[in-house]
Amino acid sequence: MQKIEKNCALQNEKIIELAGYKKEDFSVCLGCKICASVCTVNDLSINTNPQELLSSLFLGNTIEKDNPLVRYCTNCYRCTSACPWKIRIPEVVRALREDLGIESQFEKAFKGAISIWGRVYEPYVFLMSATFMLKEGYMQYMPKWLEYISFHLPHKTKRR
Ligand code: SF4
Ligand code: SF4
Repeated sequence: MQKIEKNCALQNEKIIELAGYKKEDFSVCLGCKICASVCTVNDLSINTNPQELLSSLFLGNTIEKDNPLVRYCTNCYRCTSACPWKIRIPEVVRALREDLGIESQFEKAFKGAISIWGRVYEPYVFLMSATFMLKEGYMQYMPKWLEYISFHLPHKTKRR
């Protein structure tokens, strides 16, 4: 049992390094949970806590493949911009996914677009992910996404 725990702690340190950090870097985390309060996954009514993910890695606890952040993190960096220490949580999630051998359909589509056009091409990403989104029930979140996308689009200012 002790050996398993030690292996897990070592594995977690590798994941932390893969994300470009050292274990002690996470000791500055204040536990303020600002990251959780702004997390996009929480906008979709899924209860997630990025801070919990960091502390599990720090403490050498196992993180399962079905952890909601591992499954659904959108790499939006809202958590990073709100964090007082600017901890790059999506990079930690990506390192975890790589370690667990998981690659979401979105990541595959993003990589595909980059390899073809050298940039992200949204219609391609959408088309490549459509079956996955339908199967996993993501379509119910479409109104929320559209609301979010329209918020970021340039808006015309009315001339007087
Ligand atoms: S990057 Fe991931 S963890 Fe951070 S706010 Fe976005 S969805 Fe949440
Ligand atoms: S916002 Fe930053 S400091 Fe606060 S809990 Fe999240 S990772 Fe830790």
